[in-house]
Amino acid sequence: MAKVLIIGAGGVGQVVAHKCAQLADVFTDIVLASRTEEKCKKIAAQIEEKQGRKIATAQVDADNVPELVALINKEKPAMVINVALPYQDLTIMDACLETGVNYLDTANYEPLDTAKFEYKWQWAYQDKFKQAGLMALLGSGFDPGATNVFTSYIAKHYFDEIHTLDIIDVNGGDHGYPFATNFNPEINIREVTAECRHWEDGEFVTTPAMSLKQSFTCPDGVGTYNIYRMYHEELESLTKNFPSLKKAQFWMSFSENYLKHLEVLGNVGMTGIEPVDYQGQQIVPIQFLKTLLPDPSTLGPRTKGKTCIGCVVTGIKDGKPKTVYLYNICDHQDCYAEVQSQAISYTTGVPAMIGAKMMLEQKWMQDGVWNMEQMDPDPFMEDMNQHGLPWKIIEDPEFNLV
Ligand code: NDP
Repeated sequence: MAKVLIIGAGGVGQVVAHKCAQLADVFTDIVLASRTEEKCKKIAAQIEEKQGRKIATAQVDADNVPELVALINKEKPAMVINVALPYQDLTIMDACLETGVNYLDTANYEPLDTAKFEYKWQWAYQDKFKQAGLMALLGSGFDPGATNVFTSYIAKHYFDEIHTLDIIDVNGGDHGYPFATNFNPEINIREVTAECRHWEDGEFVTTPAMSLKQSFTCPDGVGTYNIYRMYHEELESLTKNFPSLKKAQFWMSFSENYLKHLEVLGNVGMTGIEPVDYQGQQIVPIQFLKTLLPDPSTLGPRTKGKTCIGCVVTGIKDGKPKTVYLYNICDHQDCYAEVQSQAISYTTGVPAMIGAKMMLEQKWMQDGVWNMEQMDPDPFMEDMNQHGLPWKIIEDPEFNLV
């Protein structure tokens, strides 16, 4: 059906490339490009060995618009799947506009020097994409991504009006390292150490990072974990697109061990994003820390256990209060057996592939810049079941969240 250009060959890029390659009738041609082409070639070799399918590779600096434009003009894809880093979102969007190509990403733009997690920079491209007759689909990972679609699916099929939303992201996996992050360490640590914001009565309320926790028992025997309230970017678009929400919160599980390491690293300044002078050279502490930590794309063979990510929504149906929990459980080792990646990269890469499929099959294709919950959730949810992320619903679950 169409040629796709994937930019970024990290943990997520690897899954996207594998999953797109599995659907030869949708993604007829695949080009995987990144800063280090060697990583693309390694993934291409895995895919050829596993699926007998060849994909092309290329080198590109995605901070450089002319380089991106040259690559896109050479390859002429129908769309670009951006799974590089959030810092590259705007340059890749600019290149897509210049070359007349559709765009998808999994994380909102962040300037290098401020960790803000805001959609304003990308929403500002709305008119440009509309006028160009192109689509940009934002945040098509798991959270953001599947969680936005879960919310719109629940709102569409189970409620007349939704009032509260709790997104709960539990990773019950263990990689055996004293400290490692499951996706890009720099982005992960910036996210986790940011002040918490949650939506309450029409505004975002700010509280210190990790200052509220509760215990959550996952369904289907995944286990009981401490979950901590934190800010996550989908809260911004979901509270805008579902104005009936009175309260919206995001929760993530962390082990005591992870939090203790993070606290110490923070106390000694290793998570800082401002450059410091080291023997006459400017270095950014968090970037240096990244070079010391295990590469998330190497965690696959060692990570055991399951993830459980879902949305708890309360509201009104036929005049009566109601609660619905929609979730997916994913097994780290099953993901590794299929695409040689752990479940965090898998749960991000599969929705990126499905989002691209929705666009190329014209089920979601619409001019402008869109968040996931603005699209019809039904075909996406159907594909989640087909392509490795089956989900379940519990009506009126037992648990009481804070
Ligand atoms: P990695 O760090 O593993 O991979 C990033 C890739 O992007 C690397 O291949 C890197 O190249 C490449 N890259 C970085 N800068 C450039 C550049 N200037 N030009 C070209 N390529 C570049 O990250 P992940 O795979 O873990 O994450 C990818 C994206 O997915 C991130 O934006 C992350 O925030 C997002 N994400 C979203 C989630 C969701 O649920 N929505 C969950 C997890 C991640 P090199 O190898 O040379 O460094």
